Amino acid sequence: MTDSIAILGSTGSIGTQAIEVAQMHGIRVTALAANTRVEELVQQARLLHPELLCIADESRYSALKEAAAGLGCRLLAGMDGLCEIAQHQSTGTLLNSVVGMVGLLPTLTAIEANKPIALANKETLVAGGALVMKAAADRGLPIYPIDSEHSAIFQCLQGNKRGQLKKIILTASGGPFFGKTKADLAETTVEQALKHPNWSMGNKITIDSATLMNKGLEFIEARWLFDLAPDQIEIVVHRQSVLHSAVVYADDSMIGQMGVPDMKIPIQYALTYPDRLPCPTKPLSLTDYGTLTFAKPDYDTFDCLTACIRASEMGGSAPAIANGANEAAVAAFLKRKIPFLRIGELVTESIEKIPSAPLTCYEDVVAADRKAREFVAEAIAAC
Ligand code: MG
Repeated sequence: MTDSIAILGSTGSIGTQAIEVAQMHGIRVTALAANTRVEELVQQARLLHPELLCIADESRYSALKEAAAGLGCRLLAGMDGLCEIAQHQSTGTLLNSVVGMVGLLPTLTAIEANKPIALANKETLVAGGALVMKAAADRGLPIYPIDSEHSAIFQCLQGNKRGQLKKIILTASGGPFFGKTKADLAETTVEQALKHPNWSMGNKITIDSATLMNKGLEFIEARWLFDLAPDQIEIVVHRQSVLHSAVVYADDSMIGQMGVPDMKIPIQYALTYPDRLPCPTKPLSLTDYGTLTFAKPDYDTFDCLTACIRASEMGGSAPAIANGANEAAVAAFLKRKIPFLRIGELVTESIEKIPSAPLTCYEDVVAADRKAREFVAEAIAAC
């Protein structure tokens, strides 16, 4: 298991739970980075005494300097700060839980500096999976998934032969709008979309869960992490979020990983792998649940899911385009500039209208992401 971590996104839901897990198991936290929340970041620093402290939003750097005075941390800001943490000699494992494409460069930087990655930033793999997986494979570096589904698959692969894997079952909670039609969803408000039945998460991923974009991103993420063809991934809606995903082997044995819906379990496994240690969570009682249900996803209502699968099949820059369009569309929805269903339309239109190009370097990913954001901005401005 790892003995020290640097956390990008330390004040978010994954970051705060990672700190809890690290403290329980004596894992040193050597660096912390947050996007905008200076006060929480400094509180964490008082508790953990990291060497490096970074605020990604550069406009808050002076506030950080003031609040962190006397703490003895080196203070950093912006993308340069995130990348400095990623490659710093004190960084053991880089736990990347920032939200969005912005996580890609720090991940690539850490890999170049030979740091193992614990990855909760799914957009990293969606936009730049080809680059990240190649860079990690070239250096023999592990990427430990923190997404609960991908952690489940990773766990189910232990002790079996990868060549005998037939397919994976990617489970989906179905989000707050399971069973609804497009007509039902036309008037959806921001408040309604921000209520998730099982998981408590940040705003962006909660909206992604409501549109099922999150599952689409996870579909693409799984392809990269486990080197799968699109037809080797079956998405199954499982409302209780108890079976976190499963794998099917050549003999048609299905092996799944179950647990209460608590991110501390996948976070801990990424940090203590291959060890399994006591986790500060509730044990799973199957009889408390009684019934577990499984259903097919509704591809007609949830355009984002369909678009991601299509983008994954198209390959090249299409997933980065779908992701960039979604990031821009979700931001616009949260600002109440577009209706809920427009998010799926914009993601679909982005991959239909912007030609997919090969991705060979980081700049290619950035260019695809920028085109998608411009496309969304223009589409919103036009109506
Ligand atoms: Mg997930």
